[in-house]
Amino acid sequence: MQVPFISKPRPPETLRVGDREIPLLLVRNPRARRYFLRLSPDGTARVTIPRGGTVGFGKEFAKANQGWLEKQLAKPPPACRQWKLGDTLLFRGESVQIRLEETENTKPRLLVGPEKILINDSSADLRPAIQRHFWKLAARELEPRVWELAALHELTVRRVTVRNQKSRWGSCSRRGTVSLNWRLIQTPPSVSDYIILHELMHLRQMNHSARFWMEVSRVCPNYEAAEAWVKRNGSLLR
Ligand SMILES: [Zn+2]
Repeated sequence: MQVPFISKPRPPETLRVGDREIPLLLVRNPRARRYFLRLSPDGTARVTIPRGGTVGFGKEFAKANQGWLEKQLAKPPPACRQWKLGDTLLFRGESVQIRLEETENTKPRLLVGPEKILINDSSADLRPAIQRHFWKLAARELEPRVWELAALHELTVRRVTVRNQKSRWGSCSRRGTVSLNWRLIQTPPSVSDYIILHELMHLRQMNHSARFWMEVSRVCPNYEAAEAWVKRNGSLLR
């Protein structure tokens, strides 16, 4: 396989994007069919010059795409999805730190608030192990809570599931299936109760009408505080 020819280093070029000046790198690639622009993670605009192309046109090409670069630069960095030792998580509404238990045991254990979680490798991403543990707790505690609150308010629920929903805390089907997000184990109990009651009230009103909110406020008088908490902590749903 032929290694693409890369142009010799030249004095650093820059490009004006919005109100800032970013490094511009022009790289020849004889195998490229056309000019190409991308933004490297370090914030350098990188233009690929195809066979027969020119540096001058490469610069023009970058300038012509300033708007695209500006949009890319404005994007927030991707959310940190990995959990590591020392990171802080929410558990039952409290901030807890992920720590490693001091022990002689062969298998390490994580301490997450009062929870102890066996793991294989403390240097790997800890999220899968902690998520599995949280999910199990959520199923064990939230499912009975749904049955309890449904009985209290004389509603018929057919099935309760705890799932890994990406964009919502819970849902309720017309047929009486209540689905809850395992992340509710991370919220204060008043918030998980509110979400359960919210979903249950959909068995009375399958919409978000004024009548629906009246039902919610009757069974959960401080629902507005819970709604505010959910809005403030929307980033948990990632
Ligand atoms: Zn709803």
